Amino acid sequence: MAGTSNLSFILNKPLDVEFQERPRPTLKSPHDVIVAVNYTGICGSDVHYWQHGAIGHYVVKDPMVLGHESAGTVVEAGAAVTTLKVGDRVALEPGYPCRRCRACLGGHYNLCPDMVFAATPPYDGTLAGFWAAPADFCYRLPDAVSLQEGALIEPLAVAVHIVRQAQVSPGQSVVVMGAGPVGLLVGAVARAFGATTVVAVDIVPSKLEFARSFAATHTYLSQRVAPEENARNILAEAGLPAGADVVIDASGAEPSIQASLHVVRVGGTYVQGGMGKPDITFPIMALCLKEVTARGSFRYGSGDYKLAIDLVAAGRIDVKRLVDGVVAFKDAEEAFRKVHGGKVIKILIAGPNEKIEGDKLDTAAPAAAPAPAEGAAEAAGCC
Ligand SMILES: [Zn+2]
Ligand SMILES: [Zn+2]
Repeated sequence: MAGTSNLSFILNKPLDVEFQERPRPTLKSPHDVIVAVNYTGICGSDVHYWQHGAIGHYVVKDPMVLGHESAGTVVEAGAAVTTLKVGDRVALEPGYPCRRCRACLGGHYNLCPDMVFAATPPYDGTLAGFWAAPADFCYRLPDAVSLQEGALIEPLAVAVHIVRQAQVSPGQSVVVMGAGPVGLLVGAVARAFGATTVVAVDIVPSKLEFARSFAATHTYLSQRVAPEENARNILAEAGLPAGADVVIDASGAEPSIQASLHVVRVGGTYVQGGMGKPDITFPIMALCLKEVTARGSFRYGSGDYKLAIDLVAAGRIDVKRLVDGVVAFKDAEEAFRKVHGGKVIKILIAGPNEKIEGDKLDTAAPAAAPAPAEGAAEAAGCC
């Protein structure tokens, strides 16, 4: 890739973005590499910052570069880097923990209180020409994995972490609430872990159609009825009279979370992967009486990126199918608009130094259909 531009896509305040040529990052540690960013996917959290300028207590106060789902090419390596060399293609893990605290030393670096995470204020994201990162958070892509697929490793790692939290094992039944990018990938990872029944649940019929073609063995179109009734219908649809072994919420929507606790079997596992409202009414009696194991899931940790790459390299998960189009860097805002409109699953933004053949966005066949109805989940947030 030629080009030296470090053009950056910057959020000033809600709905106010601009492009700015910023100084190219430099090596700050001999253990770092500089990566030229080839492709970046748009995440629900990027769209949320663009729309609202905040997620929970993370508030954009100063201009911030968006983006954190990227793959790129190493253009410079620090003197102490032994695992990567100039020219290597890598998936970027976009969060850097302190490596010293109790969470880090305990093997749960995703829970580090001092995490520096791309496009989470006050830290800049990866929608720029170049990115500096510790070499051990850049994962070399095997020849079988393209740079565009490399940009999908981040959301796939989110799904891997969720499915690991759920401890899905061979032969199990897994219900996945929400068929957005993360819900779809969770279904695919669950299949790869040996789940024999994977039920996708959503409020948009076309998303379910896609889910069935991707990884789901069954689908259920959620109705505006009591959560208990949706739960009964899901179990009837999937032939699971005793309940599902595992239920994963990748929607963050209150009615889905409520139905989840009625879908899970006695002694089953429920994992919250989606982010919606911070507080909801929760069926805690069902949790108690069924002795449900409940877990949260946040971003990704040790081994999740590696497994995500291995699953793609082995042909177990075809992440390319989630990509509706690739746009030039100058069209980044338009891409955000399309993702916000709900008409697409994933759009990739080419790096400012990347040449793409025209604007493929409008020619790509839409994989998913229009906008979720009111009350739908914002996104299966990872970040
Ligand atoms: Zn994300
Ligand atoms: Zn730490």
